[in-house]
This record gives sequence, structure tokens and C-alpha cells, in this order.
Amino acid sequence: MSPNIAKKQRFIGKTAIITGAGSGIGRATAIKLAREDANVALFDLNLERTSSLADKLNKFRKDCALVIEVDTSDEKGMEEAVRRTVEQFSGLDVVFANAGINGAVGPIEELSLSDWECTMSVNLTGTFLTLKYTIPHLKDKGKGSIIITCSINGNTRFASFGWSTYSTTKAGQVAFAKMAALELAKFKIRVNVICPGAIATNIDETTEMNEEVEAIVIPIEFPDGAQPLADGPGKPDNVADLVSFLASDESIHITGAQIVIDGAESLLS
Ligand code: NAD
Repeated sequence: MSPNIAKKQRFIGKTAIITGAGSGIGRATAIKLAREDANVALFDLNLERTSSLADKLNKFRKDCALVIEVDTSDEKGMEEAVRRTVEQFSGLDVVFANAGINGAVGPIEELSLSDWECTMSVNLTGTFLTLKYTIPHLKDKGKGSIIITCSINGNTRFASFGWSTYSTTKAGQVAFAKMAALELAKFKIRVNVICPGAIATNIDETTEMNEEVEAIVIPIEFPDGAQPLADGPGKPDNVADLVSFLASDESIHITGAQIVIDGAESLLS
């Protein structure tokens, strides 16, 4: 942080659930929120990553991070994880529904039903369960902020050949977020959706590439760097800054918004 920028403390006394907190965008957001004094519940499949993150965060403030090993697509697991969070921190204010996978990538006729269902279940069902089990606690508080991580794929970009399943989940999340924003407005719960372009994270670990995809590619020439504003992929921190803004009262009148954060990448495609 620049020495000229005063430390913000937008989350004193607030609690956030972050799904997919062990890596990339979720991890960067957990660090930002905890630095601003939030309690953070770190939901992830990967206990090793979230445990080492919690060690780091608990040095900012004792016991501010809670590690929960959970698959967001598992209903019982999510119900229990949310219950434990609310019990530990006495309530809930912010929900970052962020966990996601790339899943199987290939021509549609080469994808199996289980490929399709796997990506649907993590990206869409996981988002549904995250909201289903957290909304009652936000209602208890009388306000709240939900942020859902989508993507430019399926929303402003359709030229990622072979990514039909992933893109469908990301388009579905936008519709779900906007429906939820309207449904929850009278409870003062805001729901916003962010659509990142390429961000340098570990997401490629979840990609299962089918070589047949080459057969359906239409060559598109990108300029060097692909993201004009950044001359390369964005950083998880860039996205975490946006999420922190949407999580805070600085965005008190923003709901149902779909915010692209891609350094102009999708304007090229
Ligand atoms: P990442 O792989 O670095 O981090 C994702 C985390 O989610 C991992 O720690 C992983 O263990 C966890 N996770 C995966 N499935 C889970 C499940 N079922 N339950 C609980 N945890 C689970 O990836 P990232 O790039 O930080 O991705 C975060 C979100 O951003 C995803 O929804 C992704 O689709 C979206 N996104 C990423 C990019 C990009 O270029 N990185 C671009 C657009 C959108």
C-alpha cells in the first residue's frame, strides 16, 4: 500500500463468507477484507491452502479467520458450514460466492453428461446453495452484500471455443444474481455480479482440455498482451479491490449490477 493512502477500515465488526478462498481471487479478497478488520470464513475444498491462509490472516487479528473444508455443491456440507460461521462470528454481513471450476473443455458432442453435470454442479448449484443458506442470516442482520463471480465468458465473450459448459454456467449465474437482487432489495440485501477477464490464478488446474477442440476453433488474432489496459492478464488483487468496494457501504445504492473487470479484453472479442 502506498504510504500516502490511509488504511481503510470498512469492515470492522463485519463477517464475510468467501467460497473458493484458498486460491486466486478468493484468496486475494480474503486478505483485503481481513486487512480491513473483517472476520472471514474461508470455504474451500483445499484445506491445506485455506489453513496456511488463515495462519497469515490470524496474524492481522487473532481468530479473525475460520477455515471450513467444504464442497459448495454439497447441500448438507454448505448448510453446516454456514451454521458454523454464524455461530463462531455471531452473524453474517458479506457473502462472496466465488468458487468455480473451468471443467471439461471440448466440442459439445465430445462432452459427456458427467462433464456437463460436474461444471454445472460446482458453478451453478454451488452458487445456489451459497445463497440459499446465507440469505436467512443476512435477513436477520437487516442488510447485507452478496457478490457472485461470473466471467466475461458467456456474457460479453463467446469466442472461447469449447467452453460452452463453463460459459453457460457463467451466463446462468448472471440471471440468478439479477433475480436475487430484485427479490432481496426490500430486505436491504444487495446482490452484484462481477465478470472478470483473464486473471492470473490457479484456475487452469481445473481445466480438462479435450484435444478435439482444435477442430472447432475459428482463429482470432489478439494483439500482443490481450488486455490493452494491463498488457497481460489481470491480478487477483484487481478483482479483490472491486469485491471489497461492492462488499462495503461505499456501494450502498448498487444492486443487480453486472460489472466487467477485464482491462478491455472483451471489447476486442
Ligand atoms: P482458482 O482455481 O485459483 O481458485 C478457486 C478456488 O476454488 C480453489 O481454491 C479451489 O480449491 C476452490 N474450489 C473449486 N471448486 C470448489 C468447490 N466445489 N467447493 C469449494 N471450493 C472449490 O481460481 P480463480 O481464478 O480464483 O477462480 C475464482 C472464480 O473466478 C471462479 O468462479 C472462476 O470461474 C472465476 N473467473 C476466473 C477467471 C480467471 O481468469 N482466473 C476469469 C473469470 C472468472
